[in-house]
Amino acid sequence: MNKSIIDKVDRILNSGDVKITLKTNNCIHFNVRGDSDVYSVIFKKNYNLDKAWSCDCKAFSLHSNMFCSHILTAIKFLSKNNHLSK
Ligand SMILES: [Zn+2]
Repeated sequence: MNKSIIDKVDRILNSGDVKITLKTNNCIHFNVRGDSDVYSVIFKKNYNLDKAWSCDCKAFSLHSNMFCSHILTAIKFLSKNNHLSK
């Protein structure tokens, strides 16, 4: 993972531009503010890791086999806030 993505993830986290908009037993929806827009990131708990995450940004639709910065931000947000253990 290159450093500019890590910097971007930290910048989004530190500025509070990631929010959980919906949380159910099966999924968590996030709004993540990127460079020019707010993206919807969805985490489906019961899927394999490679299918569990999705994002509506262009980078993810082009390279859906790898996580975009918005998904990485949501993952880090969850691990920081211990949502995964609940
Ligand atoms: Zn994205």
